[in-house]
Amino acid sequence: MPDLFIDGTWRGALDERTREIRCPADGSLVGVVDEAGGKDTVEAVAAARRAFDTGPWPRTPGTERGDLLLRVAGLLARDKDALARAESLDTGKRLVESAYDIDDVVDCFRYFGRLAASEPGRVIDTGRPDVDSRVVHEPVGVCGLITPWNYPLLQTAWKVAPALAAGNTFVLKPSELTPHSAIHLVRLLAEAGLPPGVANLVPGAGPEAGAPLAEHPDVDLVSFTGGLRTGRRLMAAAAGTVKKVALELGGKNPNIVFADAGFEAAVDMALTAVFLHSGQVCSAGARLLVEDALHDRFVDEVVRRARGIRLGGPFDERAQTGPLISAAHRAGVEAYVARGLAEGAVLRCGGGRPSGPGYDEGFYYLPTVLDECTSGMSVVQEESFGPVLTVERFSTEGEAVRLADDTVYGLAGAVWTGDEARAARVAGRLRLGTVWINDYHPYVPQAEWGGYKQSGFGRELGPAGLAEYRETKHIWRNTAPAPQGWFD
Ligand code: NAD
Repeated sequence: MPDLFIDGTWRGALDERTREIRCPADGSLVGVVDEAGGKDTVEAVAAARRAFDTGPWPRTPGTERGDLLLRVAGLLARDKDALARAESLDTGKRLVESAYDIDDVVDCFRYFGRLAASEPGRVIDTGRPDVDSRVVHEPVGVCGLITPWNYPLLQTAWKVAPALAAGNTFVLKPSELTPHSAIHLVRLLAEAGLPPGVANLVPGAGPEAGAPLAEHPDVDLVSFTGGLRTGRRLMAAAAGTVKKVALELGGKNPNIVFADAGFEAAVDMALTAVFLHSGQVCSAGARLLVEDALHDRFVDEVVRRARGIRLGGPFDERAQTGPLISAAHRAGVEAYVARGLAEGAVLRCGGGRPSGPGYDEGFYYLPTVLDECTSGMSVVQEESFGPVLTVERFSTEGEAVRLADDTVYGLAGAVWTGDEARAARVAGRLRLGTVWINDYHPYVPQAEWGGYKQSGFGRELGPAGLAEYRETKHIWRNTAPAPQGWFD
């Protein structure tokens, strides 16, 4: 079956190009996927435009849109095993993690299914009996949705579910490295009864299949999750048509540990924070800031346990984390570590590829700890998006906050302390979209997700996540029109 979905029809690319998808864990062929180019995307935009301007979806009551999303949630739950397997083969991620991700995808559709049904608008009390004044929400229009490879279906769900809940039509461009779960999702949208042209899918490379979404005058909004450099480019491209832009970009997330923190939990979660999915998580706690008095004991224990982390492929039940997404990405992580060492960081563990049977065909990199880092170093400022932890010291609360905020990013981070008042003070001062206290990584669909500073703008999840996909209109009705006489 072909892989582009345009105007309710599955077809191949106009220039008949395809791409081989290989599993990052062992290089095995996962599938051959049709590769959309710019002309395919322009056709998809035209289909989405027609469906928005003349089709039923934007005019369907919120309750019915919500029902469809809830049906999709049911279909996703039905296909959970196949989706988790597809996600693991594309990303190399452990199957158990992919299964959690699919549960989160189902929750996301359920959440926005219920929110769509609520359709909140409001009546304005003008104090005038002759006026009926209301504020209503309407869909934005055609949305260009561009997603990354690290949480392929989850990042897609965070965009597709609210876009549909609000009544938009869309063109989805998943990462060219991990298209299979998006293809499956679009099949389920069709199975659930979404009208033709509402959901369009163009798997393909960013500069070809993705770039037209930012430039095309018939696209009203572009929502992008990915790297900072691509985000800057998209924002500039979208300026030509003053599109609404939502950007969910990278992070260099501080994990701050005070000396009075619960030791065992803080060590355990410092490892999870950075090594989950081999660090390929936007909110990864890749910067450990430890209070001086605790530094040696804490870092020794992190290093001891990092050395023991077992790497393996998606179906290796003993594996604790997996490979990086591609050879090119691993080369980037290697260059990043080399830069850190040249800048004076002290390598405490890792810093290379694992050896042994099963590792040579995949893109593995050992969990790595770089100690004695300082905020001027590029490894502290830049995202590696790999299993690399940088460690900095601090001696006062003020210094911890200052160091934590000393990057261009502001996505997420954590503070570990036994002092509740200090936790509240620090959480209040950090310029981050999410702050965890004595925890790392949890999120719920009811709470907004997004970054401060150059981690992006616009919010996903939560009521504000739905608001991203809505225009707000004020309708003022004079119920007793009469001449005012101003120009008599
Ligand atoms: P990327 O920027 O390379 O690619 C993201 C998407 O953009 C892909 O679909 C890609 O094909 C597309 N793209 C690339 N160039 C394009 C162009 N010129 N025009 C249009 N589309 C283009 O990012 P990635 O490597 O796929 O993902 C990793 C990055 O994503 C990391 O920086 C990570 O922090 C970030 N991320 C952020 C969040 C968040 O919630 N803030 C979540 C996940 C990932």
